[in-house]
Amino acid sequence: MYMKVYNEEDFLNLAGIQHFAFCPRQWALIHIEKLWKDNLRTVEGELLHQKAHDGQAFEKRGDVLVTRGMPVFSSSLGINGICDVVEFHRNDDGIQLYGREGKFRPYPVEYKRGKPKDSNIDILQLAAQAMCLEEMLCCEIQEGSLFYGETRRRERVEFTLSVREEVKQTLKQMHHYYERKYTPKVRPSKVCRSCSLKDLCLPQLGDRQTVSDYIKKRVGEEG
Ligand code: SF4
Repeated sequence: MYMKVYNEEDFLNLAGIQHFAFCPRQWALIHIEKLWKDNLRTVEGELLHQKAHDGQAFEKRGDVLVTRGMPVFSSSLGINGICDVVEFHRNDDGIQLYGREGKFRPYPVEYKRGKPKDSNIDILQLAAQAMCLEEMLCCEIQEGSLFYGETRRRERVEFTLSVREEVKQTLKQMHHYYERKYTPKVRPSKVCRSCSLKDLCLPQLGDRQTVSDYIKKRVGEEG
């Protein structure tokens, strides 16, 4: 069966899948129009990620090897990004690692602020990371974990067929929008309350012009 392969210059940011699943317009404002606004949530999230990436690049904890800030990519999904933490659990059914004796199973762990969400946006991001690791390391990864800063707990995530299919379909749509530089119009919903871009979303524009064009025009008028 024909499988699309993306060139590196067409890769999208892996972490964008959680923005797109939260709201496709938010994703387009950040990744197509390059607008971003820090709020308390994004700053707290950034601090938590820095913590996950701190310390040694490689660490041994008993039968587990831990890497932090591991770059990953997938040519078939057309994405690249960084994994907060990837653990390698010693297991006879695993893969060999250069310079290490024995075999290991990769196990991605993503750090998040707050607590588990009602939606599956964090799960999609973690599954996309696992799918990158599978392609890079030629292996199968059945599960990983999400660690939440508020509950200080890990939530186990199983990478089911339906989650994998949702990752593929979501990324396909993101590529489609990105190629057309399409910013979806506003669809107000309850998620808007916690949206880091609600002040920049400018719902009054409808789909007549992009937010970045509007801002450029306003800045020009006032200059
Ligand atoms: S304010 Fe609402 S519609 Fe606008 S980007 Fe945020 S979530 Fe999407």
